[in-house]
Amino acid sequence: MYAQTAPDPIYTVAEEIRSHRRHLTSGRKLIDKRRTEDQIIGKFQGVASATVQADLQIVFSESRKKDGSPFDQNPVVKFAALVRCFGHGCPTPEHKVPATTELLLDADADETAPAALPVIAAARKWAQQHAETCRALPYTGR
Ligand SMILES: [Zn+2]
Repeated sequence: MYAQTAPDPIYTVAEEIRSHRRHLTSGRKLIDKRRTEDQIIGKFQGVASATVQADLQIVFSESRKKDGSPFDQNPVVKFAALVRCFGHGCPTPEHKVPATTELLLDADADETAPAALPVIAAARKWAQQHAETCRALPYTGR
């Protein structure tokens, strides 16, 4: 079973990029140049009803110059994903989708956001396949 999460992830990814850009230029004293935003991109139900959740991770950081100099660091963003199965006793409760290359934060957000699509697709695919075969029971503890 698959429940589409609204709104369109590419739209929300572009919004996150714009939001982080505003954060960086806000002039506040405490600015998080490095942070990760998690977004749920899919929820599936296993054979025995355990929840399998796929999260997109929008990772904001700064590029580094190869000579290690602190100047000319550009804000960058990359995308990764984490799939978690909340089934009790699940043999593979976690699956990581490797991160994309770093993309410049200053680039057009609407053009950067689709770079997350292959990561989203890979995470959803793994989550769905896991849900179709995982016989772990829903975790009822608190
Ligand atoms: Zn599982």
